[in-house]
Formats: sequence, structure tokens, C-alpha cells
Amino acid sequence: MVLLDLLMPPACASCGRSGTLLCGRCLNGFVKASRPAERFLAPDRGVVVGESLAVGMAAFAYEGPVRRALAALKYSGASRLAPILAGICEASLGGLLAISGPATLVPVPVHPERRRARGYNQAELIAKPLGRAARLPNAEILDRIRPTTRQHRLNRPARLANLRDAFAMRTGAQVRPVVILVDDIITTNATLEACAAVLRAAGCETVYGFAVGREV
Ligand SMILES: [Zn+2]
Repeated sequence: MVLLDLLMPPACASCGRSGTLLCGRCLNGFVKASRPAERFLAPDRGVVVGESLAVGMAAFAYEGPVRRALAALKYSGASRLAPILAGICEASLGGLLAISGPATLVPVPVHPERRRARGYNQAELIAKPLGRAARLPNAEILDRIRPTTRQHRLNRPARLANLRDAFAMRTGAQVRPVVILVDDIITTNATLEACAAVLRAAGCETVYGFAVGREV
């Protein structure tokens, strides 16, 4: 990564223009999630899963430059994008904290095999600077114990089956009363629900979700 950085000047993850990791023009094109459907996520009774997640919230609608930047973060190894994306999400996280009160940020885990292949967990890279900015503790207390097929190819019932038993509390992890799960993208609430169910079963009182982008 460091060697690559030296050899290649930074280019905008969204439009490719050289000079910065995310250029001003693309950053200006980030569309704040404004409609509740783009922004909030509540337990979707009967369609997705149970009722473990209290509220889920995303900073941006998952489209245009947001979509391209998140794809670069996930698939092109552009891990330096994470702090930039976290920085522009701080205000939205503040909106969720107004509801949740003090909370522990818990990144949605990836399976160790995928982490090895990618070199990082993008949710963790977003959660860390968010926690520092908001002065909230960050704790990796969940593990993904089963690799799962890429979710975007699956319909809702298949997503649920795919995620069943995919997550577990990390051995020896300390349970936190209020948790905000952090992820890069919310597609359906299936992943957040699966994580929230594990946390609630372990004794967490309330579990919220937060992501950079929300697919609508
Ligand atoms: Zn750009």
C-alpha cells in the first residue's frame, strides 16, 4: 500500500481526476440522504428479520459519487478514503447520537478470509475515525464466523438464510449497554439485524445502525 502510494499519485476515487483521493467536485456531488426512506431504517417486520435493531441511519443516498467512492473503498483497496468518508459523516452520526445517547461503535465484521484478501475491514476503517471525532469508544466485539455469498446478488429471504449464524460475539468480548453498529452500506437491514440479534442475545440493551450510504 505504502509503496503503491509512492509510485502512483492519488486520483479521485469517483471521477479519476488526479491530485486528490476525492476531488472537491465529487464531494459536492454527495447527496445527503433527505427522504426518510433514504435515511432511516426501522425493523421491517415480517419481511426482513426480527426486531433487534432499534433504528438504522445512513448519511448519504447510495448513488453517484457516493456509490463510486464506496466501491473504491471496498474493491480497489483505497483504504485511505475511509477517514475522508468518515469525516463527512460526522454530522449525520450526531443526529443518531441525539436519539441513542452515549454508545459504543461496533464495526460490522468481515470474515477473516475476506479480510486477508482485502487487507482491511472497511467498516472498521470508517468506525475508528468516527469514534475519535465523536469521542465514543470503538470495540470490535463481533466476529463473522461463516463466510457469506455476496449479498447484492440475493433477494431478501436468501439474504436472511445467508446470514443465519454468520455472526458471533468475539470470545471474551465485553458486552456494552448501547451499541451503534457501523457499516459502509445499508442495503436491506438484514446484516444489521443479524448483528443486532447476536448483540441483544449477549445482553446489549439497545442496538442502532449507522452507514455511509443507504441503497433505496
Ligand atoms: Zn472526482
